[in-house]
Amino acid sequence: MTDHNFSFQTKLLHNDYKFDKETGAVSVPIQHASTFHQQNLDEFGPFDYGRSGNPTRQALEQTIAELEGGRFGFAFSSGMAAISTAFLTLSQGDHVLVSNDCYGGTYRMVTEVLVRYGIEHTFVDMTDLQEVALNIQPNTKVIYIETPSNPLLKVTDIQGVVKLAKANNCLTFLDNTFLTPALQRPLELGVDVVLHSATKFIAGHSDVVAGLTVVNDEELAKQIAFLQNSIGAVLGVQDCWLVLRGLKTLQIRIEQSSKAALQLAEWLQTVPEVEQVFYPGLKSHPGYPIQLAQAKSGGAVLSFQLKDEEAVKQFVKHLQIPVVAVSLGAVESILSYPAKMSHAAMSKEERHKRGISDGLLRLSLGLEDPADLINDFKQAFDKSNLRLKVKK
Ligand SMILES: *Cc1c(COP(=O)(O)O)cnc(C)c1O
Repeated sequence: MTDHNFSFQTKLLHNDYKFDKETGAVSVPIQHASTFHQQNLDEFGPFDYGRSGNPTRQALEQTIAELEGGRFGFAFSSGMAAISTAFLTLSQGDHVLVSNDCYGGTYRMVTEVLVRYGIEHTFVDMTDLQEVALNIQPNTKVIYIETPSNPLLKVTDIQGVVKLAKANNCLTFLDNTFLTPALQRPLELGVDVVLHSATKFIAGHSDVVAGLTVVNDEELAKQIAFLQNSIGAVLGVQDCWLVLRGLKTLQIRIEQSSKAALQLAEWLQTVPEVEQVFYPGLKSHPGYPIQLAQAKSGGAVLSFQLKDEEAVKQFVKHLQIPVVAVSLGAVESILSYPAKMSHAAMSKEERHKRGISDGLLRLSLGLEDPADLINDFKQAFDKSNLRLKVKK
């Protein structure tokens, strides 16, 4: 293991995989083999078959484990594969409490897949510890946290929920996609299973779909390893390498993008067309004190609300810089429209109940000069205002 006194930023580069032990290559070798030769029929080496394990995947799995401050890491073919596999540690008759503005795919998994296997759920406002406590049932086995949540950036008191979970004999799972271990390390706050869509900030370049899971407990690690091998949604070796490459610049990317997010959030608050700004790095955000206590910054994602769908359409039409797309956490800024993208799996009624209105836009900051983004937004608001006036 590497020297744990290194700071996170240094550990991203100087870890067990900084060079290949055999050749000295300063890049993790991509091992394409799907199977591994056995010296004899009774002795297996560290690897036997590619689904069960592979040296390139192992490099990623051990690296993410160390970065999250955990002991066991697992790489999956997508964030949803990681999340779904973790949920399958549950059995028929179990119950799970879920953040009510969780990722749309997680919502779909819980409401349309798990129910078919007799795994029940209740959605709660995870920022309200009293509501969490009230909804824990005798068969509740997992409390599923997403903080900051998607897309309204609500902040959950991680240690508060962990305390309730432990008192009630249930596990906590946490989707750490929005902050990554560079800004928030849930295992250190007592969480049992950390989940990632590594597609986002961890890989960071909009060029790979991947998922990661990290746990500390050996028994839990055995269960996840068993399910990873049984379900088989493992990450391919080329993609493992891409994630490892992205990871090296994680700290510098997410810090820069977080600074830009704060700048944009502060500016958006002064724009008359913007009805509300949601960003946990703003002092006016109700979750700000908790965010400050459990994470290094507000992160690089914010959302803001315009009047309605027509206002959104006009604004987006005139923007030049951000990519308009599903996804987040990349070197380019990405603007998305939750109602029709990440949260399309939810009915309009469910969306509105959760405060995801038709005027809501989510912005994930990239590495552009924030001044250019502000200018771009300014001209888009000006042009769309003219349009909206002419239409009336
Ligand atoms: C994208 C995302 C997921 C799903 O990950 P995929 O890699 O797309 O399967 C899960 N949680 C959050 C918060 C996400 O943003």
